[in-house]
Amino acid sequence: MPDQFANQVLRAFEDGAELLKMDPRVREVLREPKRTVEFSIPVPKDDGTVSSFRGYRVQHNDALGPFKGGIRFSPGTDMSEVRALAMLMTVKCALMNLPFGGGKGGVDVDPFSLSVTELERLSRGYVAAAFPVLGPKFDIPAPDLGTNPQIIAWMADEYSRRAGAATPAAFTGKPAEAGGIAGRLLATGYGGAIVLREFLKNENAGDVTVAVQGFGNVGSYTAKYLAEFGFRVVAVSDSEGGIYHENGLDIEEELKHQTKLGKLDHSRCWPLLTKRDDRPMVCPTITNDELLTLDVDVLVPAAIEGALSEKNAEQVRAKIILEMANGPTTPEADAIFQKRGITMIPDILANGGGVVGSYFEWMQNMEGRVWTEGEFLKRLEETMRKALSEVQDTAKRHGVSFRQAAYLVALSRLQDAILARGFA
Ligand code: NAD
Repeated sequence: MPDQFANQVLRAFEDGAELLKMDPRVREVLREPKRTVEFSIPVPKDDGTVSSFRGYRVQHNDALGPFKGGIRFSPGTDMSEVRALAMLMTVKCALMNLPFGGGKGGVDVDPFSLSVTELERLSRGYVAAAFPVLGPKFDIPAPDLGTNPQIIAWMADEYSRRAGAATPAAFTGKPAEAGGIAGRLLATGYGGAIVLREFLKNENAGDVTVAVQGFGNVGSYTAKYLAEFGFRVVAVSDSEGGIYHENGLDIEEELKHQTKLGKLDHSRCWPLLTKRDDRPMVCPTITNDELLTLDVDVLVPAAIEGALSEKNAEQVRAKIILEMANGPTTPEADAIFQKRGITMIPDILANGGGVVGSYFEWMQNMEGRVWTEGEFLKRLEETMRKALSEVQDTAKRHGVSFRQAAYLVALSRLQDAILARGFA
């Protein structure tokens, strides 16, 4: 899978570069990451043994600013996957018009197999190994798949200890009490929900049904805000499967019970428009495969890469796909969706709110001024709307898909920066 994913990201880049008629020298620069680092992280286990985990940090390009991108803890993560994700970040930061380049990190580990103390040692061990290539003006990591604000708090603390100075701007996605910004946790989901709401502005939200794959940071907040905007979120899922109710789910309740249980509650659900005494009730459970092919208006893959492939693309019944995960659609599936007239809102636009929120947090830490959540959400919304409108205008002007338009906008900015700065 990782190699397939790497090809997928490279193909989207080459397609965009071709459309832009990119300067071949710039194309050559952007094909390869500037720096890749691979290391072993020995973690003392609670039982007295030591396990070593493979860690990666890839710095793809910094023409627009310091490298920026999350760290994932995920089984099977390897250099090929992290390189592809780093390239996506370069393009995403350029599309969102941020003064950041692209990077990414990862560890090949199942975070759920570790105790809390082991997870802390692994998080600190990652920073110990990558310390020489990190920094608030050089490379700024954030959370991604399998990592969360607590993990980032440990990492930021370890960075400050090693730097010998409080350096909160070295990491984003920290909890508010550890220098984080109000709103960062919800930023990716909120940004995606804003994009869909703006895209469908002439539709009556209550008539629009949505299915969301993945109920982690990104999926749960996307579902929460779509529900708040009045959309009918009829299905959500996590790695163990999903729940469905045609009335739509009360996402606030689902989230409350997920927090209590530590995972999505598959045994019962809280449907909307249901008498209070009848809730919770047993809901039909569905597999992740079934969720992806539900008869809904909008499908939101918000879990893993490659969820939509040539194996299921013909069966997808949604009219719009909002890509909240990174790379959830293979090029083969993308071609099928294009042929079938299904609208794709690409990952680098749909989930760009995460890195925009990270930028605000970084600015807060650099300036030493605390932002309010209201200020955060207002500026995030403005940024998402602007990016969507640029993509829509470009798609119309060039007669291309939204993915191609997003790449055209981003690659054109990157080309200008690289040509202005030089190649050395
Ligand atoms: P997370 O670990 O918080 O949540 C992942 C969710 O996906 C969980 O509900 C998990 O159970 C589910 N899942 C895992 N494997 C699955 C499978 N095989 N089938 C169905 N569901 C599965 O991760 P996240 O931070 O929400 O990230 C999800 C995606 O969004 C990733 O592709 C990530 O790169 C991307 N992303 C994250 C951010 C961010 O700010 N966290 C920003 C942009 C993009």
